[in-house]
Amino acid sequence: MKIARFDDGSGQSLGIVAGDRIRPIAQASDMIDLISRWEAIKVDIQAGASGTDGFALSDVRLLAPVPRPGKIFAIGLNYADHIAESKMETPKHQVWFTKAVTSIAGPFDPVQIPSVSPFVDYEVELVAVIGKGGRHISAADAADHIFGYCVGNDVTERVWQHRTAQWSLGKSFDTHAPIGPWITTADEVGDPHALGIRCFVNGESRQDSNTRHLVFDVFAQVEQLSQAMTLEPGDLIFTGTPGGIGAAMEPRRFLKAGDVVRCEVEGLGHIENPFVLEA
Ligand code: ZN
Repeated sequence: MKIARFDDGSGQSLGIVAGDRIRPIAQASDMIDLISRWEAIKVDIQAGASGTDGFALSDVRLLAPVPRPGKIFAIGLNYADHIAESKMETPKHQVWFTKAVTSIAGPFDPVQIPSVSPFVDYEVELVAVIGKGGRHISAADAADHIFGYCVGNDVTERVWQHRTAQWSLGKSFDTHAPIGPWITTADEVGDPHALGIRCFVNGESRQDSNTRHLVFDVFAQVEQLSQAMTLEPGDLIFTGTPGGIGAAMEPRRFLKAGDVVRCEVEGLGHIENPFVLEA
């Protein structure tokens, strides 16, 4: 199933996307509520997924599927070609940083180029959405704790990222975590480690890889994070970006106002965000 948040002009709702239509979901008040009660309500929701009522997708505005996750973690240096272009060594341990929950943006919303430092770059990523929470989740059990997946852009301000050893500030500017266009449930995704992943800037291909090239796979990431903390429904994990970032091009190419960045993951749809100067 594909589950979205949307605004039809009269307010925000959850909906099931099927083809070019979206049908409202009545069984949950918000996405984290839906994810938390999924086992109890999914049969009901699925039963309402077919039919022709609801809205044309083109008539609604899609919103960030999880507008206020409890936490957003993102892994660095997790594709071999990106490690090489970053002139780093393959890390022995998973390299984690957080993105502020206030950095979330919708799948087609404008993304801000910060007034304090404009060196903004894209990073297309597969994003895992935690379903059933837990602590000390083994990699073998991790699939049971993932509700679904969506596309994300781990937008990064490169100067703030690298002026200290800790990356979180440079990764946490407002609007720098656009996600969507909806959550595709894990059962529909199947193997998350066999998905094409691509990024385009103004139609020009910049990143083109496959999630099979992840250094630490999604399940190993869930295992590692949950050794430290309790994962909760709706928590987001950005699982790493492949090679092709603008900061590694020669000369370096950062995003400028008017650029449009499209990120897509096979089977999950795409997000597409115009970049604008912070007002
Ligand atoms: Zn990233």
